[in-house]
Amino acid sequence: MNYNVTEKGYYGTFGGAYIPEMLYPNVENLRQNYLKVMAEPDFKAEFDQLLKDYVGRPSPLYFAKRLSEKYNTKVYLKREDLNHTGAHKVNNTIGQILMAKKLGKKRIIAETGAGQHGVATATVCALMGMDCVVYMGEIDIARQAPNVARMKMLGAEVRPALSGSKTLKDATNEAIRDWINNPVDTHYIIGSAIGPHPYPDMVTRFQSVISEEIKWQLKEKEGRENPDYVVACIGGGSNAAGTYYHFLHEEEVGIIAVEAAGKGINSGESAATSALGKEGVIHGCKTLLMQTNDGQITEPYSISAGLDYPGVGPLHAHLYKTGRGEFYSATDDEAMQSGLELTKLEGIIPAIESSHALAIFKHKTFKPDDVVVLSLSGRGDKDLDNYIKYFNL
Ligand SMILES: *Cc1c(COP(=O)(O)O)cnc(C)c1O
Repeated sequence: MNYNVTEKGYYGTFGGAYIPEMLYPNVENLRQNYLKVMAEPDFKAEFDQLLKDYVGRPSPLYFAKRLSEKYNTKVYLKREDLNHTGAHKVNNTIGQILMAKKLGKKRIIAETGAGQHGVATATVCALMGMDCVVYMGEIDIARQAPNVARMKMLGAEVRPALSGSKTLKDATNEAIRDWINNPVDTHYIIGSAIGPHPYPDMVTRFQSVISEEIKWQLKEKEGRENPDYVVACIGGGSNAAGTYYHFLHEEEVGIIAVEAAGKGINSGESAATSALGKEGVIHGCKTLLMQTNDGQITEPYSISAGLDYPGVGPLHAHLYKTGRGEFYSATDDEAMQSGLELTKLEGIIPAIESSHALAIFKHKTFKPDDVVVLSLSGRGDKDLDNYIKYFNL
């Protein structure tokens, strides 16, 4: 079985590029060039150097002793929470802004829901002195004031999307419209392993530094490169794709995905895409997404803004359908309790997204000598208000 993208942009039956005709030249230009650019020695050198000196990589692989004792197994945390800007997202935005420069682009656009990808994009635009426009739903702008302020400080223009439900999907439509109107000078930075081919593959490759590091770090600590399991939470699926990438074809490594079940899979308020989703097209790719019988996309819900997405990247749809990945979902309550538990046991406050991955220990029992590597995708600072409200702190 092949888990890498095909020449045409497919993972099994998922993926592809379902885009309006007018966007074709932009996407085709990227498709023809991205692998060539990524293979150029000076591109690689600059990417690696920025990951090291600016992001702070390699991120530690930390043996969580007390968490391991509690669940009677060996748990390692991949500390993406220690990256500059507090999560894995910056690995991708660094890669894409270097790609944009190589392709001669002068201006960056992005869409954002909760604002995390907007901040990661505005950060690298400041770093490179590039113009940056971030589209964001009017309602999200009101809900996510601190991230809007960060983007403005970083010099980005935050443009409100005023149509439809005034959230992420409408911001995406506005960004696509902008790209159609500015095909020559503008690059569109997508923030997860989603979108038309080549985005899911390009984002996965930029994030694959996560599993590349896990391999040598685990070799140092355990004497072997392959863990028994890798675990990650999935919104669109970029931290998961990066965590799995170098293990996809290593059959002894179990791949575990945790989605957001919100108030319960069958509550009507969740984002458990693999359990509830059917094949459909979202953001330019064919994948699993939550939809009504007549194909209307269902509004997702999760306490975690980063997992609140109605689809999942095409790689993950393929891992689900082929059975290569084990898919679980964690409710808001399970995630919040798991986040607090990590805080108490290890002195690490995780992002609520990452807390969903940690909830795997409530769903699956591992063997005492299993080595489980879990992607701690981000830190909890941004979620403090949520933790305060939930636990009455
Ligand atoms: C955005 C985000 C996620 C979800 O995005 P993926 O593309 O699925 O990785 C997970 N964790 C954190 C901390 C995030 O900011």
